[in-house]
Amino acid sequence: MTEQVPPAGTPDLPPQDAGAGHPGGVPADGEVGAARGSASGGVTRGSVPGGSVSGGGAAGETADVVVVGAGPAGSAVSYYLATSGLDVLLLEKTHFPREKVCGDGLTPRAVRALTAMGVPLPENDGWLRNRGLRIIGGGGRIELDWPELSSYPGYGLVRARTDFDQILARHAQKAGARLLEGVAVTGPLVDDRTGRITGVTTRDGRSFRGRLVVAADGNSSRLSVAMGLHKREDRPLGVAVRTYYTSPRHDDDYLEAWLDLWDGSSLLPGYGWIFGMGDGTSNVGVGLLNTSAGFGEIDYRGLLRRWLAAMPAEWGFVEENRTQPVRGAALPMAFNRTPHYTRGLMLVGDAGGMVNPFNGEGIAYALESAEVAARVITQALARTTPAGRELVLQTYPRQLKDAYGGYYTLGRIFVELIGKPSFMKFATKHGVKRPAVMRFSMKLLGNLTETRGGDAVDRLLNAVSKMTPAA
Ligand SMILES: Cc1cc2nc3c(=O)[nH]c(=O)nc-3n(C[C@H](O)[C@H](O)[C@H](O)COP(=O)(O)OP(=O)(O)OC[C@H]3O[C@@H](n4cnc5c(N)ncnc54)[C@H](O)[C@@H]3O)c2cc1C
Repeated sequence: MTEQVPPAGTPDLPPQDAGAGHPGGVPADGEVGAARGSASGGVTRGSVPGGSVSGGGAAGETADVVVVGAGPAGSAVSYYLATSGLDVLLLEKTHFPREKVCGDGLTPRAVRALTAMGVPLPENDGWLRNRGLRIIGGGGRIELDWPELSSYPGYGLVRARTDFDQILARHAQKAGARLLEGVAVTGPLVDDRTGRITGVTTRDGRSFRGRLVVAADGNSSRLSVAMGLHKREDRPLGVAVRTYYTSPRHDDDYLEAWLDLWDGSSLLPGYGWIFGMGDGTSNVGVGLLNTSAGFGEIDYRGLLRRWLAAMPAEWGFVEENRTQPVRGAALPMAFNRTPHYTRGLMLVGDAGGMVNPFNGEGIAYALESAEVAARVITQALARTTPAGRELVLQTYPRQLKDAYGGYYTLGRIFVELIGKPSFMKFATKHGVKRPAVMRFSMKLLGNLTETRGGDAVDRLLNAVSKMTPAA
């Protein structure tokens, strides 16, 4: 079986070699066939008024909102918008079910977001529950149960993205969103006079117009790039690879994270994970941050292989038990692409670089940003003047900053610190063996504090996040 790492955000494209085109397999912004100013990803200019879909005059379908990409962010925003009675077109380039490179792990934060959307999560229907985290590193090993809080449930889940993304897309459809599968968006339609996006063009030659367009097209977000919104060099980025093995550990009720990832004598900033899928296999992978010295040169497949070689043989993480190729993608962190709203385009999930820099979790933030976006859009489209609409739409970046800005600033400091091998070594050696330190770390790294009140740790973390300036 070959090991392959495709560029980020291309779950449907044929896998390519990890080293091809980008050193160390680090995917570059807009690399996925996106061509600035070319037919693919280029801007189509027209004279359709930006504020309305009616009377546009050009051929093609119209809706209140056009959403590009039916990952968790796109399906969630479509679900919420349709529930508010808006006409939503959700365009997805692949056909469900389809693979998405992921660890498949859902923390209580993601469970809360799924519950808020009314997604049924029965244990006997493939939703494997977990009790908490098992952390291994620095010669220590500790199991920490998820905290039982009023704000978050005391359990997490594991579900393969093949199923997970399909379930969310169907949920959005049931709420009334019009999902079109196999429709690849190639670029924005832009109003000459205002510079606003008025819709999108697709590979099959069609155009779709909306009063607003949502970019939910993942890490590479070709749509955002075509509107001039590039990744920010001053924000952290992770890269992770994963695969699956048949393993007796498939029904582990803890998510397991290993902090000892060595590159020669350097301890790398990142972790390896083993998440039981409950179906006879485990999802196994490694993820690293771009703050390590040799980030661009790292051989991720080799790192995964070396890490797994040290595992007990009876766990079964050997070549003959591997059921999938090794695949990888980038994790855009800490508001890696901004602004989150401009000229009729709203960014949600990975398109807006919303992955948590502390732990690499992206699904919860995709779902939560989608909910905020939908609330803002619903209010904006109810306004009767363009100026009134714009006033409301401009609150979206502010609301995101209020929710995550301080925490993500702290995350950027954390990412810098653990990029220093001496700090990482000190932290794993002295942290993992101390339950109180680890319980604190779990709340900090998982962003799992009571939103109001809570214990001393909750109050401290909330206060520090609030006091830290959002940038
Ligand atoms: C190896 C790895 C492991 C990870 N593990 C975890 C984990 O365990 N837990 C966790 O919470 N997060 C994890 N993440 C992060 C998580 O996968 C992302 O944060 C999450 O998928 C973001 O959702 P999204 O909807 O914003 O984007 P995506 O899930 O990337 O969805 C984007 C969608 O847009 C579609 N699309 C793209 N371009 C176009 C186009 N031009 N036209 C139409 N459709 C288009 C794509 O086909 C896709 O369906 C991991 C990431 C990686 C790389």
